[in-house]
Amino acid sequence: MSNVPFLDLRVLDDDERREIIEAVDDVLRHGRILLGPEVGELESRIAARTGRTYGVGCNSGTDALIIALKALRIGPGDEVIVPALSFIATANAVALVGATPVFADIGDDLNISVASAERLITPATRAIIPVHWAGLPCDMDALCALAQQTSLHLIEDGSQAFDASYAGRKTGSFGTIGCFSMNSMKGLASLGEAGMLVCDDPDIHDRCVALRYHGLANREYCVDLAQNSRLDTIQAAVLLVRLDRLDDLVEKRRRNAAALSARLDNHVKVPRESAKARHVYYTYTIQSDRRDELRDFLTDVGIETKIQHPLLMPQHPIYVDRAKGEWSNADALIKRVLCLPSNEKITAGQLDRVSDAVCAFYDA
Ligand SMILES: *Cc1c(COP(=O)(O)O)cnc(C)c1O
Repeated sequence: MSNVPFLDLRVLDDDERREIIEAVDDVLRHGRILLGPEVGELESRIAARTGRTYGVGCNSGTDALIIALKALRIGPGDEVIVPALSFIATANAVALVGATPVFADIGDDLNISVASAERLITPATRAIIPVHWAGLPCDMDALCALAQQTSLHLIEDGSQAFDASYAGRKTGSFGTIGCFSMNSMKGLASLGEAGMLVCDDPDIHDRCVALRYHGLANREYCVDLAQNSRLDTIQAAVLLVRLDRLDDLVEKRRRNAAALSARLDNHVKVPRESAKARHVYYTYTIQSDRRDELRDFLTDVGIETKIQHPLLMPQHPIYVDRAKGEWSNADALIKRVLCLPSNEKITAGQLDRVSDAVCAFYDA
């Protein structure tokens, strides 16, 4: 029997492939290759969709975070609180602007613990970066209240949660700036590297636009120090096609997640939405006390799984000797997490194979 793949980046839908080829063909014909009209259209549409005034396209989610931090003038001497569990880019963005990442513990929902973040605030703290982990929005009521009381910036890392919402508001709309990755693995995915930040303040917007391209306020007038982080026009054209298809993709992922949870709830801890949060299931992440055994069992029957991630950010060699913060619950949880295949391309038959295999493992 063939494997059940965790992720499949081929474009197999004929309509989608044709629409993408036509969109790229349009760019080839108009020839405005760098920051062409598709970039501006995508920025407006993402801003509107997230309920923001401005969008600024850039070439990765990592660069969106770096630009956001620099736009808020966060740098050496400043501390920024990040969850201990995230893709390493979240901490690296903070360190790359010269600030210190301070690692907060996570709750059982795998998102930042607001109580832990609060304990870690010092006079040097400038911002908190909540990561909407695996597609589930963080507790934004508590985070917004904390940010307001303490006059800290929230910079949302919505890289895994584009189009997720909390109390009816989209992720990316809560903080001073919202950041998204649109690399080819993310929910709203380009065919390469891409990112976007969203905000409402016109001055912050103008600084972000300059920081996206060498700190140039206009073509020949440099006001800040920055690299080249422009969003590619061809990727923006691809993203516009995929934005129109996003509702369908999210619905499929939510349906797959519901089907898995209905079967697996007795055996493992399944992901759950809170009353206010709408999950987009970037990954379908379960928790199991026999994670490693379960993973080996699934591999043997041809089911690909993923551990997102085996190391917490403060445990990587680059941080391990100097990491500040607390992460005991995160350390316990990363030994239990396992992501099962549940993406939108998976067939009903494959989804049954996944649940059958997990049930067989526990019933044995
Ligand atoms: C993917 C990801 C990033 C980095 O995005 P890139 O576009 O790959 O640079 C940052 N944070 C989180 C939580 C991510 O999942």
